[in-house]
Amino acid sequence: MTHTRIMLLGAPGAGKGTQAALLADKLGIPHISTGDMLRAAVVAETPVGLEAKAVMEAGKLVSDEIVIAIAGERLAEEDAGKGFILDGFPRTLAQAEALEGVLARIGSGLDCCLAFTVDSEEVVQRLLKRAEIEGRADDNEETIRERMRVYDDMTAPLLAHYEKRGLLVEVPGRGTIEEVSEATIGALAGP
Ligand code: AMP
Repeated sequence: MTHTRIMLLGAPGAGKGTQAALLADKLGIPHISTGDMLRAAVVAETPVGLEAKAVMEAGKLVSDEIVIAIAGERLAEEDAGKGFILDGFPRTLAQAEALEGVLARIGSGLDCCLAFTVDSEEVVQRLLKRAEIEGRADDNEETIRERMRVYDDMTAPLLAHYEKRGLLVEVPGRGTIEEVSEATIGALAGP
């Protein structure tokens, strides 16, 4: 398996975070989640956290400027040199272009974009269930709908962007965590 610079794409609740953690563990490379970094910043009440809190609670996107800065800093850390699983970044075309710039500067590039496909009603049900279990502030029904809309408007265009670059691999997000994990590993191994 040669792919180690991997990004995961998919609607909220498509199972990206779970699969990112499993894959990072399996490949021994860092799981880089801008959502996790932003939640930590909110808890720590850093300037970024203070700015991001209300935006996240409303289910909207934090500014490109902020997320590009935090993702860029994280990717520059030594452990990301051998590869990474990007989870939740990039989410806009501007972020995708910035990522290409960051990686080009360190003489690297993405190996592939794994896109998790799921039925949107199934996703809403998953998110409502996760809301109950984790009590995430951005997992109420209204916010979930807003996050889906934001995904369709801002993030779904990345599918065509990565398809054009020959980097897109679709993974059916249906089934148990184990089934999706197997499909993910299979997708990385190629045909
Ligand atoms: P996630 O855990 O990836 O679903 O992210 C939770 C929330 O953090 C999102 O709904 C956004 O408000 C914010 N966020 C995370 N990553 C990004 C990103 N790449 N661009 C903009 N906002 C982001």
